[in-house]
Amino acid sequence: VKVAALAGGVGGAKLLVGLQRVASDLTAVVNTGDDAVMYGVRVSPDVDIVTYWLAGIADRKRGWGLRDDTFHVVEALGKLGIENWFSLGDQDFATCLYRTQRLASGATLAETIDEVRTNLGVPVRILPMTNDAVATRIVTSDGRTLEFQEYFVKERCRPDVREVRFAGISEATPAPGVLAALENADKVVICPSNPLLSIGPILALPGVRGSLRNHPRVVAVSPIVKGAALKGPADRMLESMGYGASASAVARMYDDFLDAYVVDVSDPEEAEKVAATGIEVLSVDTLMIDDSASESVARAALS
Ligand code: GDP
Ligand code: CA
Repeated sequence: VKVAALAGGVGGAKLLVGLQRVASDLTAVVNTGDDAVMYGVRVSPDVDIVTYWLAGIADRKRGWGLRDDTFHVVEALGKLGIENWFSLGDQDFATCLYRTQRLASGATLAETIDEVRTNLGVPVRILPMTNDAVATRIVTSDGRTLEFQEYFVKERCRPDVREVRFAGISEATPAPGVLAALENADKVVICPSNPLLSIGPILALPGVRGSLRNHPRVVAVSPIVKGAALKGPADRMLESMGYGASASAVARMYDDFLDAYVVDVSDPEEAEKVAATGIEVLSVDTLMIDDSASESVARAALS
């Protein structure tokens, strides 16, 4: 089967590892709304964690960066008086420096990503959702507008979120190959990534949602298990933005294009609710604690 998958960071990376084992042809379309310039280099956190995870070199416990990386550069910058709340490992810094130099010499973001994944031996095609500048911004309940990394890293997702904005999205176009990958896929998989921060920006790109509506086989895996996110602020955000923190609430956000939904076995009531709307539902253990667990979830999603 030919598969295209929409992914953010860790929730996406874990399922992609499984999909890589099951699909004959896999294209990952990855969120770039988290991207920013930090210490003069372009960071692409979701693309990089997906790439590192698939290459087998990610720090899986921490959920970002490379295993056994050091932090000398950012520590040294701190000693020079530069604000250094954004952790970036030295090897990770090298990836970002490489990307920055290639972008400066005229390469597209997609080209730099393809070069990095090829150099790291990753067989999965990794596409950024767009080559254009799109920046996720967070409007907090107390009325502040934060850059994504300020919210996510500096303020550790503590503020309640009222609204999520994607600056630049209406002028952005999907990266070359994104719409074709969706159209030509036998199955499109929405990974269990944060629906508001990771999948939201991809769906907001002109043409993407329409393409999914026209596709007969779109399946999502719930990122919410028993009303909670396994990592990150998805549950709190879904609550504060009025969607409700549940697997069925996430299905509702996708219901204009969703054909099938994978729900965790521990959520039978949620499975029933979604099935009642006419969407095919599968209940499996969705906790991807290792690669073989990821493979089981991928098999369920593609079955
Ligand atoms: P980030 O960009 O690294 O924050 O990650 P994503 O947006 O890709 O994913 C965050 C979401 O992944 C969270 O809402 C988690 O609940 C979900 N998630 C992480 N690990 C798992 C897992 O093993 N199974 C499922 N079903 N969801 C997961
Ligand atoms: Ca992310």
